[in-house]
Amino acid sequence: MSTELGTYAKISWCPGCPNNQILVAFRKAVTELCEAGTLKEENIVAGAGIGCHAKILDYLNMNTFNALHGRALPAIEGIKAANPALTVVAFSGDGDSYSEGLSHLVHAAQRNSDINIFIHDNQIFALTTGQATATSPKGFKGLTRPTGSIEEPMDPLRLMITSGATFVARTYAGEIEKTKEIMKEAMLHKGTSFVDIAQPCITFFDTRDFYKEHIAWLPEDHDATNVDMAYSATKRGDGKIPMGIFYRVTSPTFEEQL
Ligand code: SF4
Repeated sequence: MSTELGTYAKISWCPGCPNNQILVAFRKAVTELCEAGTLKEENIVAGAGIGCHAKILDYLNMNTFNALHGRALPAIEGIKAANPALTVVAFSGDGDSYSEGLSHLVHAAQRNSDINIFIHDNQIFALTTGQATATSPKGFKGLTRPTGSIEEPMDPLRLMITSGATFVARTYAGEIEKTKEIMKEAMLHKGTSFVDIAQPCITFFDTRDFYKEHIAWLPEDHDATNVDMAYSATKRGDGKIPMGIFYRVTSPTFEEQL
């Protein structure tokens, strides 16, 4: 792996935080795409919003932009529109994009803007010590849900398929190789690439054991070009959490039409 992607900054995530695994997967993905001649490091721009996920920019020696809370997407879309030759990545969190900046997610997908959206989905606002977000499970107890959440969590994959995203996937931070491969596929895709990354917060909502028992990768014969099959594949049958590339189709991008 290229050491040039690292920085002098000391990691300030909690020791063992799975954000580290997302960082490793992304560095590997970029390194492999650059070594294959598919990407150039100087042509990549990574952005982030506010939250634990956003620290990832401190550990990436590349062009970066730190946006306001929930606003990584419009900033990254603007950068892409101004220079379509760039490959742009928006890191965000469930608190940042499923709660604070949800409308940006929907409209990026609606435009099929050629951006990559990688969501660190730990199902809470972790940086502010554990408040509920839109993906917190029913029954979750936290600072703002002391007696347990009575809401069903939203399904971001279904939302993004319905909104028009042309690449929709979910992976697990602990599966670094699988996450790397999905990130590479996302970055090679033309159009809105959306990847929900299940990422336990080991300090405020440790879901590592849960994911070990409940991950179900999509079968190899899953037809990602079929929107109905993609939509139904997101369904959580038997309590399992389906993962993989659910949907991938070609459609004119916002920047091509611009
Ligand atoms: Fe990671 Fe949670 Fe610590 Fe944030 S609070 S750095 S998500 S373990």
